[in-house]
Amino acid sequence: MIDFRSDTVTKPSKAMLDAMMTAPVGDDVFGEDPTINALENLVAEMFAMEAALFCPSGTMTNQIAIKAHTQPGDEIICDILSHVYQYEGGGIAFNSGCSVKLIQGNKGRITASQVEESINNANDVHKPISKLVSLENTSNRGGGCCYNFNDMLAIQEVCKKNNLLLHLDGARIFNALVAKKETPTQYGKTFNSISVCLSKGLGAPVGSVLLGNKNFIQKARRIRKVFGGGMRQAGVLAAAGIYALQNNINRLAQDHLHAKQIEQALQKKDFIGEIFPVETNIIIFEIKGKYTASEFIALLKENNILAIAISNTQVRFVVHLDITESMVQQTLEVIKKL
Ligand SMILES: *Cc1c(COP(=O)(O)O)cnc(C)c1O
Repeated sequence: MIDFRSDTVTKPSKAMLDAMMTAPVGDDVFGEDPTINALENLVAEMFAMEAALFCPSGTMTNQIAIKAHTQPGDEIICDILSHVYQYEGGGIAFNSGCSVKLIQGNKGRITASQVEESINNANDVHKPISKLVSLENTSNRGGGCCYNFNDMLAIQEVCKKNNLLLHLDGARIFNALVAKKETPTQYGKTFNSISVCLSKGLGAPVGSVLLGNKNFIQKARRIRKVFGGGMRQAGVLAAAGIYALQNNINRLAQDHLHAKQIEQALQKKDFIGEIFPVETNIIIFEIKGKYTASEFIALLKENNILAIAISNTQVRFVVHLDITESMVQQTLEVIKKL
């Protein structure tokens, strides 16, 4: 099976497993796991941020950040397609007791003026206190598209001017870095907190890292424990993350190229409607005419290709490190004859 359902389906390679098997470990709740400490230092240094915290998932790093930045009753400003709003089980309300101001952005991306218009008057007792802006780069539900860096800087300016904190859901930050030729330190200077996933394009089996200043990460460490995310000899997992950061970043360009090739094959089919601009490893497209989205998925499956329908009319392909050159060629052949 050629599995395009998500970049979370990758399995650890032999070399990654070797790194996991030989990792020195200790009790991380005591701060004594040398491999987790090494991973946290590595990521903090990459982004030039003060401190980092290893967590089991990207949902947890996002939710810890929201909890640490807010008080119950505060409001978070984000795009309507945001993972933090759509796909984290109502965690903003459940964990932090916050409300959300949703912005209709452009494929998951919002602008500084939209943020500015969404800020409540802090002196109006009717209104929740606007506290945090959350951006997502790349945007998952926006088809893996990227922000222009200057647009994020403009949002940072609005946040500073209005005493708002700025969080980045960087589940696929490395896809954006590679596609836009940006550096992690640019991001470190722009955001109060960043969540980075190791288990998406980077190919680790488990794990995300939360970044911020020392005070924030100290608070986050307490919240991680409360959320049940204090792990013990989890250096075996952190070792996979270190391996991924050392070996699997530059190769993301290959995934982006493969995604482009698939996009080009889809463009030639009359039953394909809008294809979201393919900038990284995600291809979201509309199915029309002779197939419904679920019929199209079933047809792909008969041809040993797995993808998912994200709505009644939209299908998503995600390219990742377990998708080989020959799997892409096979996929292009199948698309051609449908
Ligand atoms: C996958 C993802 C996350 C985190 O997901 P987990 O499965 O909890 O690790 C967060 N944000 C975005 C945009 C994602 O795609």
